[in-house]
Amino acid sequence: MRSMAVFLAVLIVAPALASAEQNWPGEPVDNHIYMSWAALTQEVNQWSDDNPDIVQLSSIGQSFLGKELWMVVLSDWSMETKANGSAKEIVYIDGGHHGNEYLGTALAWLTAKWYINEWNAQNEEAIKVLQNTELHILIRLNPDGNDFDTRHNQNLTTTANPFASEPVPTGIDLNRNYDHYWDDCSPSDPFAPGTGPFSEPETKANSIYMNTVVQDADLYVTMHTGVWIMLYPWGKWPEQPPDWELFHGIREEVNAGISDIPIQNANQGLYPNCGTSRDYGYGVMGFPTFTFETDDDQFLPGTFEDVNERLGEELDVMRYLIDNIWYWRARLVVDSLSIDDGEVSFTIENQGRASTQNATLQYVDGDKVLWESDNFIANASSSVSVSSDGFDEEGGEWRLHYQKRAVNSSQWVNESVGRSPEVSTLLSESVETLLWILQAGAIPIFVVAFAFWWSREEKPFDLDDEVLLEAELVE
Ligand SMILES: [Zn+2]
Repeated sequence: MRSMAVFLAVLIVAPALASAEQNWPGEPVDNHIYMSWAALTQEVNQWSDDNPDIVQLSSIGQSFLGKELWMVVLSDWSMETKANGSAKEIVYIDGGHHGNEYLGTALAWLTAKWYINEWNAQNEEAIKVLQNTELHILIRLNPDGNDFDTRHNQNLTTTANPFASEPVPTGIDLNRNYDHYWDDCSPSDPFAPGTGPFSEPETKANSIYMNTVVQDADLYVTMHTGVWIMLYPWGKWPEQPPDWELFHGIREEVNAGISDIPIQNANQGLYPNCGTSRDYGYGVMGFPTFTFETDDDQFLPGTFEDVNERLGEELDVMRYLIDNIWYWRARLVVDSLSIDDGEVSFTIENQGRASTQNATLQYVDGDKVLWESDNFIANASSSVSVSSDGFDEEGGEWRLHYQKRAVNSSQWVNESVGRSPEVSTLLSESVETLLWILQAGAIPIFVVAFAFWWSREEKPFDLDDEVLLEAELVE
């Protein structure tokens, strides 16, 4: 009955939508903010056709019932890298794990649409983001569930949980199907996790994309609907994650200037949950990850509100997270570097908002590490001074070797150090010696110079006087 009501409502309001280009197709409806997979397919193809300069559309796989899983990638494709030659930042966003969570899916759609519209309107913020960033947005992971108005996918071939919880096939909860402590929260989390990690084609496709295309991402946001809250890891454990400093810093900034939305550890803010894409994104991929839960007003009857207005504040938070992505990792810079008698001393500034541990300064020849400093920790937004001895190398280059964040799974990076060391061994000692010689030598040089001057001063004496003197002597 509800599906029929939605269908009728869409028919009734459809003519009014034709002119409202920014509107979510099929919206508003009486009790759902809803868009069919067919409408989404038309929409994203239109984006790609109309905006080849910034939109790349692809399918990363098919749903259980064979629907394409559309991936929209936005960037300024006239530039392969940033203007300074470095790689663009990578943002990963997905929506619609749960088929009946329309507002969360709408936020993924709206985020993509905002950058497309604003790029075309020559908005400076959108231009800057797309010149420096790739936004990978999978608007809907569970198109079958969306079209059937169900949370789970439509895999009804197996019991959802062969161990206990689901005696009758009800489809699989895709957000319990990831390979991070899969099905390890039961019985507190009685959702249908599937027969094993990545047993479902939707989650399998998503994990392949994470591991092969966006593995360098410094932000992953997965969008849902329920309680108005942003959840950071972990769902599995009540403890704060290793990168708590980064998550708490983002919470402070969002709550101070953008939105009052609560931002919490998922286990505490919601309930314990395992095998989620959020815990996988952080715990396995090392991404800074948020579950963005929009409110649940999608189910209130009689609401007629533009989705852009409804989700305006949520979009502001997304723009903040995307604008500042450069800071969501450790960013080490060598401030000073000197070598004195085999001891290397250096000062590191961490310009990023995440801490890093087990960092080292290395002296390398190609991939061969000739010398390595002691391990050091660089806390977020601070400096650290380190000294390590045993340096007796030449012919190599300096680089920093560290993880982008504190969590074990975070990516390791090697970054060359532009700064050359101030060497105070052979060369500077030679300079000191030379200075001493010059100073010591100044005394005899002064004496010689005075004598020379004195001898020159004699010359002006009148020759006649000399002669006279001799004459006097003669006398
Ligand atoms: Zn959900």
